[in-house]
Amino acid sequence: MTLESAALSRVKPSATLAADAMARELKAQGRDVISLAAGEPDFDTPQNIKDAAIQAIRDGKTKYTNVDGIPELKAAICAKFARENGLTYKPSQINVSPGGKPVIFNAMVSTLNPGDEVVIPTPYWVSYPDMVLLAGGTPKPLPTSTETGFKVQPADLDAAITRRTRWVMLNSPSNPSGAAYTKAELRALADVLLRHPHVWILTDDMYEHLVFGDFEFWTIAQVEPALYERTLTMNGVSKAYAMTGWRIGYAGGPEPLIKLMAKVMSQTTSNASSISQWAAVEALNGPQDFIRPNAKLFEERRDLVVSMLNQARGLHCPTPEGAFYVYPSVEGLIGRTAPSGKVIASDRDFAVELLETEGVSVVFGQAFGLSPFFRISYATSNAVLEDACSRIQRFCTAVK
Ligand code: PLP
Repeated sequence: MTLESAALSRVKPSATLAADAMARELKAQGRDVISLAAGEPDFDTPQNIKDAAIQAIRDGKTKYTNVDGIPELKAAICAKFARENGLTYKPSQINVSPGGKPVIFNAMVSTLNPGDEVVIPTPYWVSYPDMVLLAGGTPKPLPTSTETGFKVQPADLDAAITRRTRWVMLNSPSNPSGAAYTKAELRALADVLLRHPHVWILTDDMYEHLVFGDFEFWTIAQVEPALYERTLTMNGVSKAYAMTGWRIGYAGGPEPLIKLMAKVMSQTTSNASSISQWAAVEALNGPQDFIRPNAKLFEERRDLVVSMLNQARGLHCPTPEGAFYVYPSVEGLIGRTAPSGKVIASDRDFAVELLETEGVSVVFGQAFGLSPFFRISYATSNAVLEDACSRIQRFCTAVK
C-alpha cells in the first residue's frame, strides 16, 4: 500500500516553487544563477503596514479570531470592494483566509462533487487544476492562443460549458500570461455565462492593481450585476502590498457559499494569523499612493523584457496588459539543438537547457497547461532583467 492517497497522487507539486527551489540549490552550490521563476514583488511591505502588525502584537491581539476574519478587516474589505470595484458586500459575504490560495481551495472543497467540472482557461495559474483535483472535481482546460492575446473567446467558453460544469475560473490580469480583460471582453463572456445559470464564476483578481498604461481594471460581477449571485470575487494583499509572507487572501460572494467556506476553515486551518489580519486592515484602509508608481515601475520592466526577448532568435513575446509576467513562445526553437548537443523537443527542455547553459531559471509552459511557452517573472531590478535577457539572447543565438 502506498502512503500517498489516491486524491493526492493525481496532483503535481507546484512547478513554479520547484523551479525556484532548483535555482536556489544551484546558487547554493556556487553557480551564477538568476531566478526569474518566483511570483512575488521585489519591494518590501510598506512601513505603515509593518507598524500596524507590531502594534497588534503590543496590544495583545494575538489570540484566535472569528474563523473567517475579524470584523475590522471584513469592514475594510467591504469598503475596498465598494471604493474600487463598485461592488456592495455585507461583512457576512466576506471570507478572509490564510492567503489567496486557500480562498480558492476552500471554495472548491465546499462545492465540488465527483464528476463536477471546472472550466479553466489555459495558460492557467499552476494551482487551479490541482486544487480542483484535490477537491474531487475534474479540471477542464480551455486553451487560448497568442492570436487572441491569451484571452478566452466567448464561443469557446460556450462550447466548453456542459451540464456538469460547476465553476468557470477567470484570472485577470493573468498569471502566467499577464493578459487582462477589458470591460467589453468581460461583457461578452458575461453574455455567455448568463445563458448557463447553473455555472458559478470564480474570478481571481489578485493582480488588479498591476495594470499598465490607461488600461482600466474591471471585474465580472461589476460588469454584469446579474452574475453577482453566483460569483466569488477573490483578491488578496499578497501582490499589491508586497505581503506574500503574511498570508492574507479574501473574497466577496453569496452568503451561502461564504458560510460553507467558513465551515471548512472551522475544521481545518481556523483563522488567518490575527497579526496579519491587523496588518491587512492597515493595507486596505491606509495610504494607497504607492500603488500607481509601483505599477509604473512594473510597466517599464515589462517594456524592457518584451523588447529584449523579441530580439532573441526564435522567441516571440506578446505584450501583456498587467501582472508581472510575460509568456513568450519558444515555437521557433523546437526541434533545434541546444549548445549541450541536446535537441529541444519541448518547452521543458528549453527551460532545463537555459538553466544549465546560462544559469537563468524560468518556468516551462507545460506547467501552465499551454505549450510551447515559458514564463518569466519580471519582479526584479532592471539590471538583473537586462543581464537575464542578454543571457537568453545568447542562448537562443547558440541554438542550432
Ligand atoms: N492567484 C494568482 C493568480 C496568483 O498568482 C497567486 C500567487 O502567486 C495567488 C492567487 C495566491 O496568492 P497567495 O500568495 O495570497 O496565496
